[in-house]
Amino acid sequence: MTPDTTPGFATRAIHAGQEPDKTTGAVIPAIHMSTTFRQDGVGVLPGGFEYSRSGNPTRAALEECLAALEGVDLGGDPLPNVRALCFASGLAASDALFRSVLSPGDHVVIPDDAYGGTYRLVNSVLGDWGVTHTVAPVSDPGAFAAAAIPGRTKLMWVESPTNPMLGVADLSALADIAHAAEAHLVVDNTFATPYLQQPMAWGADVVVHSVTKYLGGHSDVVSGAVIARDPQLVERIAFHQNAMGAVPSPFDCWLTLRGIRTLAVRMERHCTNARAVVEALMAHPEVLEVFYPGLPGNQGHASALRQMRDFGGMVSFRVAGGSDRARAVCAGTELFTLGESLGGVESLIELPAAMTHSSVADSELAVPDDLIRLSVGIEDAADLVADLVGALSA
Ligand SMILES: *Cc1c(COP(=O)(O)O)cnc(C)c1O
Repeated sequence: MTPDTTPGFATRAIHAGQEPDKTTGAVIPAIHMSTTFRQDGVGVLPGGFEYSRSGNPTRAALEECLAALEGVDLGGDPLPNVRALCFASGLAASDALFRSVLSPGDHVVIPDDAYGGTYRLVNSVLGDWGVTHTVAPVSDPGAFAAAAIPGRTKLMWVESPTNPMLGVADLSALADIAHAAEAHLVVDNTFATPYLQQPMAWGADVVVHSVTKYLGGHSDVVSGAVIARDPQLVERIAFHQNAMGAVPSPFDCWLTLRGIRTLAVRMERHCTNARAVVEALMAHPEVLEVFYPGLPGNQGHASALRQMRDFGGMVSFRVAGGSDRARAVCAGTELFTLGESLGGVESLIELPAAMTHSSVADSELAVPDDLIRLSVGIEDAADLVADLVGALSA
């Protein structure tokens, strides 16, 4: 690595924010549990830290790493002023972002397919607070443009790929539309991770993550992040992070950094395994439809080809025989564990309509009741395929 070239993704994942400790030489960042930091004189902070809600060295290491992973242009070079701020969960991150940008009377555009908790936050919490929303399909930029209300629309929010239908948005088209409406484009990049897609390179102003999923990667930490690049916006979110205080613990930050070091190799394996699973599902007579960004018929496939390094580890499909049959398949696998969440090394299976997306039942975001969602893990692909085919053929 020469000083004048930007290190590649895997190098940044292992080194950004994680230089060996200057006093001890420790290669791995310490877990700084201290809540308070000694001052040299009143208000004189030798390391810049004062109190661990406001700032903590382990959290700062994670924030520096995330900013280095997301804040790049199309050539992979760092974008100026990018900062990451970490939170106690993905929803705490989203909440801090919403409350940093929105006031009563403002309006947001959200996707017609999204994590149920994001919709619940917008509809049931922000709604009571006087913020209105319009739902638009992620793969239809024209619908986002038409949904903008001049002077009131402050955020256009997309997931890409979406949860659980795996539609992909044309991020540069949406960035142009958001900016023409004087709104910020926010991309929930949880499914793609910065390894597969870097929304800021395509013009997004803000990236949010449920760090709980692929970034943590081992189903043992709940955490979230907002990454932004407009200095005033960053300041406001940082103010809210401290003022509202939904910060992750130092141990959570340390676990997340430990996960991120292997993000690149994990994602490659997730993608390879997902491809094998998709092929098996496409060939199975009990499967009606498969949703995966890598399939030519998938919503936004052309955008996925342009924007994504590969297509990820999330796969959804519909089975013949309706909701009861889908429930039986979910209960019938052995390696695929029936459970919510995603992005860990182990494979998970779930029924969105009754589980992760029960909060959008009967809304504009409702999902088919025979839809099964898989988080394809990094076990041996042949074992995963055999497990699924077994449950489908039972
Ligand atoms: C899980 C998830 C969230 C919410 O994150 P938490 O860490 O559970 O609060 C937001 N967006 C997407 C796409 C998710 O999958």
